[in-house]
Amino acid sequence: MGKKPKTRAAPPPSEHPNQDEPLLQLRERVKELTCLYSILQLAGRPDIQVAELLQGVVELLPPAWQYPEATVARILLDDHCYTTNGYRRCAHKQAVALVIKGRPRGCIEVGFLTKNPTRDEGPFLKEERHLIDTVGRQVALFIERREAAEEKSRLQLQLRHADRLATIGQISAGVAHELNEPLGNILAFAQLARKTPELPKQVASDLDRIVATSLRTREIIRKLMLFSRQMPPRKSRVNVNAVVDDALCLLESRCLRNGISIDRRLSPSLPGIVADASQLNQVLVNLVVNAIHAMPDGGTLKIATRADGDQVMISVEDNGVGMTAKVLKQIFVPFFTTKDVNEGTGLGLSVVHGIVTSHGGTIDVRSTPGCGSCFEVRLPLPTADEDDGGAF
Ligand code: ADP
Ligand code: MG
Repeated sequence: MGKKPKTRAAPPPSEHPNQDEPLLQLRERVKELTCLYSILQLAGRPDIQVAELLQGVVELLPPAWQYPEATVARILLDDHCYTTNGYRRCAHKQAVALVIKGRPRGCIEVGFLTKNPTRDEGPFLKEERHLIDTVGRQVALFIERREAAEEKSRLQLQLRHADRLATIGQISAGVAHELNEPLGNILAFAQLARKTPELPKQVASDLDRIVATSLRTREIIRKLMLFSRQMPPRKSRVNVNAVVDDALCLLESRCLRNGISIDRRLSPSLPGIVADASQLNQVLVNLVVNAIHAMPDGGTLKIATRADGDQVMISVEDNGVGMTAKVLKQIFVPFFTTKDVNEGTGLGLSVVHGIVTSHGGTIDVRSTPGCGSCFEVRLPLPTADEDDGGAF
């Protein structure tokens, strides 16, 4: 810190003011060091949150200034403000910007509520200017480290989730494969037995049930295999609008029956992509069927396509029941369903996720309970290698 004496320090009554100067200086220096030490101690607490630290820092600042009772402080970070008790705007204040990763995100301000004598150093001492700069740097560093740690744990969580999906995928692929053959036998023999002439009515209807249940099971196995990407995509040049039209063609009458109107907003100048058309069809069908389920009393199904940078975007939006944040977190987990046993398998969105990621795409979901949901699928435009220059 500077060697200049603290000219503005309130002098205690003394007959020899000059003799007291070193003592005063020392006292001020102790205050500053105490402030810095307490801030470092706060920042060192492993469980401390950013908000708690900033509130702590703001309260530690005034005691380190010359007139603690008349000193107020505040810290601004993004949209948040942390202040000392009784904070008001002051005529004299000093501030330091909080620059985090090269971006100014807020500031720290210290001010005097009363009009203090202005000496040759200005309303604040040089030491106080140093101190606020040091505190600004320390706080910015703390926030930067904390945000980096949060980002790291978020990525780890994502990785664990992806790992889990991959493991479930491998297990389900094995199970699906093992089940396929015996199931095929059950189906074939039930269909054969059904052809026996003059079957008693009860037996015929039981066999019909066996056939229907086997078909349903085969569908689940097919979805499982799709999800675990056991079926490699057969890619060709695809017109996404045509895929949307095909999927809607299958589901239009079901929408009508359920009082759902379809609002199509397909971009006429959509570039083609390279994809597996039948898998994309599956994506659309799964999303639309979910939307239909979400609107038991009717509503509007909005389907849009548009070019979005180097991607093609397909959105499926409903104004149905929507999802809570808790449901939203789990929708891509295989077998997660909120529906009755006969209505949902909990595999629809896992399949959608598997297909979209195997195409190098992403899927975003927004949902508000009681208002509806919007699923946005983004698929990449063909790379130079894949592109044959054709347009739709
Ligand atoms: P399923 O439809 O068989 O339940 P999905 O994987 O397709 O399985 O969907 C999982 C869950 O996600 C559903 O049970 C439902 O709770 C929720 N969900 C999916 N789409 C929507 C939607 N459009 N609106 C509200 N909830 C939805
Ligand atoms: Mg579904």
